[in-house]
Amino acid sequence: MGLSDFAESLGRGLVGGYLEPTIRLGVTGLSRAGKTVFITSLIANLMDRGRLPGLRAAAEGRIRAAYLQPQPDDTVPRFDYEAHLVALTGAAPHWPDSTRAVSELRLSFRLQAGGILGSFRGIQTLHLDIVDYPGEWLLDLALLDLSYAGWCAQTLSRLGPRPEAAGFLADLGRENPGLPLDEARAKALSQSFTAYLEAARAAGYSDCSPGRFLLPGDLAGSPVLTFAPLPDGQGHRRGSLYREFQRRYEAYKSQVVKPFFRDHFARIDRQIVLVDALGAIHSGPRAVEDMRLAMQGILGAFRPGRNGWLAGLMGGRRVERILFAATKADHIHHSQHLRLTNIMAALMREAKDRADFAGAHTAAMSIAALRATVEETVRHDGAMLDCVRGRLIDTGREAAFYPGDLPENPGQLLSSARAGDERWLDADYGAMNFTPNAAGLRPGGGLPHIRLDKALEFLIGDRL
Ligand code: GDP
Repeated sequence: MGLSDFAESLGRGLVGGYLEPTIRLGVTGLSRAGKTVFITSLIANLMDRGRLPGLRAAAEGRIRAAYLQPQPDDTVPRFDYEAHLVALTGAAPHWPDSTRAVSELRLSFRLQAGGILGSFRGIQTLHLDIVDYPGEWLLDLALLDLSYAGWCAQTLSRLGPRPEAAGFLADLGRENPGLPLDEARAKALSQSFTAYLEAARAAGYSDCSPGRFLLPGDLAGSPVLTFAPLPDGQGHRRGSLYREFQRRYEAYKSQVVKPFFRDHFARIDRQIVLVDALGAIHSGPRAVEDMRLAMQGILGAFRPGRNGWLAGLMGGRRVERILFAATKADHIHHSQHLRLTNIMAALMREAKDRADFAGAHTAAMSIAALRATVEETVRHDGAMLDCVRGRLIDTGREAAFYPGDLPENPGQLLSSARAGDERWLDADYGAMNFTPNAAGLRPGGGLPHIRLDKALEFLIGDRL
């Protein structure tokens, strides 16, 4: 590192009056992608660094200490690390409660700097602020470009053909948007719309916005979440259901969506986007296509040029590194990991090509934040099968499973998804739900993982 780099690295990331550098790492992904498990394992492994050979600063022994500190944002809930760790490592290991809203945690390091200037600099402090937030909230960015009428038209055309929407459409048919607002009816209609969103998500659709309807955080029941799409409403008077829903929709944008981007998103330096690609592949081609579209929506947020409001907010700042990680790679044998990574990379390619990520480093990886299985090769009908062995949640029994081979060419999978095929033509992928593996867990030893260290090296290695 040259002297000017040295000066720059000292100057970078200084926060509000403290002369200590800080990195804000955003962790996002759709519900159940693995955010909570990822953050818990990341912290446990950074505090006990025996399992991080792929993180250079750890391998070189330059991380002298890592410790939790009160986070700098007093009004943001703290990520409940201790409770999540107890869930995973207690007497009866189980998966922790998932992300429902934004939360944050500060992990601080005492570091011996590397390189020629390292010994001059002595021990330095670096803060890592980890910000956990639902990917669903990023999808709301698209609403900023849409008027209420535009959003209604788009949403109603999308849900028309879906059987999950039948109940809501029937309820909608009983309303007259031009009549004066009746709060009880408005609430019932909004609940009916939320019930549709929940059913759509359960059916595997990812386009379930507004994001707070599914993950309301502390806004549950408030007027900004009490609206629904209505058919075109030219000439409706003030005080009508239509005009009131229109007002609430605008309030949702200005009082919910914008503050999230301003207070949390705009300050992120590094980002990991977790994707349950294996889960989608198991669900079938439509789930994969839907996930691809949702990922495209999520990535739109990292392309601030596309949205004038966000571009202004970011003021030329951008996320410096973005890692797209397929999670739960312990569900498959390591001989399949490269194929999973290639699928991940292909899923991202289109979004990435269209996106202006100039200046941001991006990468795709397959990881398991908490490895719940061991590998085993089993003879079956005269052939050798690469399996994983784990304890199934449903039965509590341990067994070896063959999850199916992923295609060597990801294009095969993605074109079937794009074509809207009902099911995969020549393959069947099994999905499993394993319990955390108690045998792999010992106090103070970090948590077993796959490539978490490589992910960390990509995300923050250059600053350690
Ligand atoms: P979130 O909604 O993004 O916070 O997702 P969670 O972190 O709560 O993960 C959702 C579920 O995915 C968990 O309850 C586990 O069943 C599973 N899971 C997450 N990470 C892993 C992993 O590394 N390995 C395995 N086998 N399962 C995982």
